[in-house]
Amino acid sequence: MSPSIPIETTDVIVCGCGPTGAMLSVLLGQHAVPNIVLERDKEVNTDPRGIALDEDGIRCLQTCGIYEKVFTEIGQCMGNFRFVGGEHNNLAAKPFMVMNYNTTEGGTGHPGFLCHKQPAIEKHLRARIDELASSDLRLGSIVTAIIEDEDWVYVTYKDSEGQEKRVRGRFLVGADGKTGFTRKRYLEPKGIHMERVTQILYEETWVALNWRMSLPTPETHPEFPLWAKGYTPQMVYDAFFPIDFRFLCNSKRAAVCGRFGLPSDRLWRFEFVVLPGEDGSNMAAPEKISEIVYPYITHPGSTYQLPTEHVQYPLDCIQVLRSRPFTFSARSCNMWANERVLLCGDAAHVFPPFGGQGIASGFRDAASLAWRLSLATQSTPTAAATPCYQKLFEGWYSERKQQLDRSLASTIENGRYVTQNNPFSIFIRDWYLWALQCVPSWKHWLEQGNRRDGMVRYQWQRGKGMAFLPHMGGGGNFAQVYCADHRATNDSNAIKFTDDVIFSYGKQGLFQVVAFLGSADDVPRLQTMLSGIDEASEGLLRANEATFFLRSTSAYSEDTIEHSTSVYRLATSEEFGATTLCNGRPKPEFYDPYRMSKEVGSKQFAILRPDRFVFAACDGGDELLEAARAITSLAAGTL
Ligand SMILES: Cc1cc2nc3c(=O)[nH]c(=O)nc-3n(C[C@H](O)[C@H](O)[C@H](O)COP(=O)(O)OP(=O)(O)OC[C@H]3O[C@@H](n4cnc5c(N)ncnc54)[C@H](O)[C@@H]3O)c2cc1C
Repeated sequence: MSPSIPIETTDVIVCGCGPTGAMLSVLLGQHAVPNIVLERDKEVNTDPRGIALDEDGIRCLQTCGIYEKVFTEIGQCMGNFRFVGGEHNNLAAKPFMVMNYNTTEGGTGHPGFLCHKQPAIEKHLRARIDELASSDLRLGSIVTAIIEDEDWVYVTYKDSEGQEKRVRGRFLVGADGKTGFTRKRYLEPKGIHMERVTQILYEETWVALNWRMSLPTPETHPEFPLWAKGYTPQMVYDAFFPIDFRFLCNSKRAAVCGRFGLPSDRLWRFEFVVLPGEDGSNMAAPEKISEIVYPYITHPGSTYQLPTEHVQYPLDCIQVLRSRPFTFSARSCNMWANERVLLCGDAAHVFPPFGGQGIASGFRDAASLAWRLSLATQSTPTAAATPCYQKLFEGWYSERKQQLDRSLASTIENGRYVTQNNPFSIFIRDWYLWALQCVPSWKHWLEQGNRRDGMVRYQWQRGKGMAFLPHMGGGGNFAQVYCADHRATNDSNAIKFTDDVIFSYGKQGLFQVVAFLGSADDVPRLQTMLSGIDEASEGLLRANEATFFLRSTSAYSEDTIEHSTSVYRLATSEEFGATTLCNGRPKPEFYDPYRMSKEVGSKQFAILRPDRFVFAACDGGDELLEAARAITSLAAGTL
C-alpha cells in the first residue's frame, strides 16, 4: 500500500454491493451514516441466482422505501409450495403436502414468499443508494488490501480506471460473498473461519437452470396440436409451466421448480440434484438437460384427448439463461466481527437453497447491523471505545446466529422432504401427512410452513451484548399490521403499513416508542408518561415522535385529540385489499389487525429498535425511563 496515495475518510466502508451490501448502504444512508460501497463489477450481476425471498425480506425492501416496486417490477407472490411425491415427471400430480404462502399470517403484513429476479432487487436497491446523500456506491472498484490501527480501518482499492485509491473508515463491512476478499484474505489469518452448522445436510451439488419462455402462437407454430383443442398461447404456457413452486420429491432424482420474476417475464427455474458418481458440469450440458428436464415439459397426448403420443412445449420458445452446477452447504463463521472489520451476508454464512433464506438472511444481517453502526460511529474514534463496539457487534451476531438456526430448520425441513429416497421412510411420511391433513386445524398448521412457529424471539444470553431487555419482554420481532388515521373512514388513501408510520422519514430518534390505547381519551395520560425519555435516552428516543395506536378498527369520530399527535386506528384486511398497496399481491388472508399489541401482552408501550425488534415493553413512566436509560448502555457496551 503506497503511503503517497491520499486517504479519503468516511464512517463505514462496505466491500461488495450484492443484495447484502446494497441493503446495508441504503439503511446506513437512511440513518445519515456516511458510507462508501466498493463494488468490483461495473454492472449488476445479471445471473438471477436467488429467486425466493421470504416476508422478512419483503419487509426490508419496504424499509428501504421501495415497496411499490416489489409486486410491480421485482416479482410476484410465490403462492403454494407443493411437495409432490413419486417417480414420475408430472408437474400436475397431486401433492402430498402444500404450504400456502399466499396468506398474510406471518406477522409482517406481507405474503409469505416473493419469487423475484435477484438482478431487479439489486437494481432498485442501487437506485435507492443513489438517492441518499450519505451513501456513495463506486462500481468497478476492487478491494485489494485492508489494514487497521486503533482508530481506523484502511482499505486500498483499484477504481474503475485502474487507479489505486485509499479510503479509511471507522468500520469495514465485508459483504463480498462467500469467497470474498475480506474473510479469505484478511480475517481467516486472524482465526475467523466458516464452520459447518449442521451435520444433517451435507454438501451437495445441484444443477440450477433458468429458462425464459416466449409464447408459441398459431402463426409461429401452426402444427402445434393444442390450438385444435381451443388453447390460447397463454393457456399453453400455463399448462406446461404451472403457477406455484414444486418440490419434486422423486426418489430417483430430487428437483425443485417454479416460475420467478413477474408473470410477464415468463421465467422458470428448475434445479435438480447431481447424484453420487455424476459430474456437475456434465449434468448441466444440453444433452443431460434434455434427458432430465424435457420429460417434465412433454405431456402424454391423452392428457388433451389427443391421439398423438406426446405433446412437448416448443423447444424453440425456450431461451436458456443459465445451466450451471452449484455446490451448497450450511456454514457460518465462528465470529462475524473482529476489531473494526465485520462480515455480513454470504461472506458470514451460506445456506442450502431449499428455504429461500440466502438473500433474506443478508438483509436481516444488514438491518440489525445498520443501526448498531449508527450508534458505534457516534462515539469518538479512540481505542478506549473498542470494548463498547466489540460488545455491540458480538450482540449483533449472537442474535443473528439464533435466527440463522431457525432459518436453517425450515430449510432442512424442506430439504428433508425433497431428498428423501428411502422407500420405507417415504411410505411413513406419506401416511403421516395424509392422516394429519384429515383434521382441518392440523392441515392449516402444515399449510403455514415456516410461519407456524410465530415470529422470531431471541433468547437472552448473558454477557453477549444482546440489545434488548429480557425482563421487560424484549427480544421479539414486532409484528406489522395495517392502520389509518384515527378519524379516517372509507378513505383508501389513509391506509398505511404500521412500520411506515412508526419509522416515518424525518424522525430523529434511532429507536421509536409505540403506545397502545383503549380509547383516544387516554392520549394525554400516556403522553405525560413519556416525559423525560428524551433526556434519559440521550436523544435516542423522542417523546414527540411516539406513535399511538387505538386497539380498534373503528374510526374515532369525536375529535378531541391534538392534531400534532400521531394517533392511528387499526385497519382491516378489506380496507387494505382496496388500496393500491395491495396491487399485484393476494388480498390479506388470516390477517390479524390486533397482532401488534398481542406480541407485547397487555403492556401500554413498546420501545422498538430500527430492525423491528422489541427492545422493551413497558407500563407507566418509571418503566419507560428505566428502558430509555438502558438504551444508552448499549452504546457504552454495558447492557
Ligand atoms: C443457483 C443459486 C440459487 C440461489 N437461490 C436462492 C434463492 O432462491 N433465495 C435466496 O435467498 N438465495 C439464493 N441463492 C443465494 C443468493 O444468491 C445469495 O445468498 C446472495 O446473492 C448473497 O448476497 P451477498 O450480497 O451476501 O453476496 P453476493 O451476492 O455474492 O455479492 C457479493 C458482491 O461482492 C462483490 N465483491 C467480491 N469481492 C470484491 C472485492 N474484492 N472488491 C469489491 N467487491 C467485491 C461481488 O462483485 C458481489 O457483487 C442462490 C444462489 C445460487 C448460486
